Amino acid sequence: MKKIIDKLYSENNLNESELLNLLNNVSNNEINYLHIKAIETLNKTYGKKIFLRGLIEFTNYCKNNCSYCGIRAGNKKCQRYRLSEKEILAICLEGYTLGYRTFVLQGGEDPYYSDTILTELIKEIKKQYPDCAVTLSIGERSPTSYKTLYNSGADRFLIREETRSKELYNKLHPNMSYENREFCLHELKRIGYQIGGGFMVGLPFQTNADYVKDLLFLKQLQPHMIGIGPFIPHKDTSLSKYPPGSIEMTCILLSILRLLLPEVLLPATTALGTLDPLGWEKGFYAGANVVMLNLSPPDAREKYSLYEGKANIPDDAIKYLSNIKSRIEKCGFTLDTSRGDHISLQ
Ligand code: SAH
Repeated sequence: MKKIIDKLYSENNLNESELLNLLNNVSNNEINYLHIKAIETLNKTYGKKIFLRGLIEFTNYCKNNCSYCGIRAGNKKCQRYRLSEKEILAICLEGYTLGYRTFVLQGGEDPYYSDTILTELIKEIKKQYPDCAVTLSIGERSPTSYKTLYNSGADRFLIREETRSKELYNKLHPNMSYENREFCLHELKRIGYQIGGGFMVGLPFQTNADYVKDLLFLKQLQPHMIGIGPFIPHKDTSLSKYPPGSIEMTCILLSILRLLLPEVLLPATTALGTLDPLGWEKGFYAGANVVMLNLSPPDAREKYSLYEGKANIPDDAIKYLSNIKSRIEKCGFTLDTSRGDHISLQ
């Protein structure tokens, strides 16, 4: 197995059967070795820097019914909210003052936010903070809409493929299209966004062969960013009784992704930090180099409940940031508050 890891390290590639063999048979010692090789690779691209993003969860209205997600349309217990432009700009001001230079606007697929409303919002953020990147994470829209939002100043777009198993995708996403999810990623890249794909780990019925499909898909897509995190059950969903995904498997997959795509921006995700108090640290040791901190107001944070027990966040944004900074430094990394673009664009 060490040979396969060495090959992955030197060639930044493996074929389907090698990847499956690695996932099926990697031993504890070899997992350590995999993480070491991932960190060595990261040292050659971004070094010891962990990039910072500020997450603004601006709406939890959603027209979709993803069966794992707490804010899916069918959850009648979810209390819905939307943040106004004024509220969002106030959050940006607070974030900017603290040093944030990327704002991630994330939400459910909320038809209320027309292109006109979003264009105005993006233009205003870019006008007030021209040195900041705006990232959108608002799901599937038309190519025209993506283009309009890009032209109004949005820099990046996150839309995970969620899983590249067609069967599993269709099981978990009623009335959604596996093909369209992929189409959106290609379209966003073609338009010029820095794009982020990614998937969940430990979904009910997900197998190692399914992970291999995601790994090969992402290697081919060459996104600028990849977000992966463990599945965490939510009590108001049909998947509430299933166990959460494994931290160890998430970290193995993080290292493999770092080796397959040495230049990719790879967050230690909120889900990873939620399921394990040391989840972010484990992510950094596996090759992650981005951290996305929540800037949403406490009331919104509580209602933006994709899954149970989202990382307990102190209300004091200054203390929150300095706490994360010291956790990062304890791991031997530094917190980098620049825009943190993909290396090809720096
Ligand atoms: N509506 C947007 C944003 C989705 S929320 C979109 O479609 O892209 C961001 C991510 O949270 C999702 O892509 C999904 O991978 C993850 N997520 C949702 N529910 C989850 C759960 N129960 N456990 C772990 N991750 C979850």
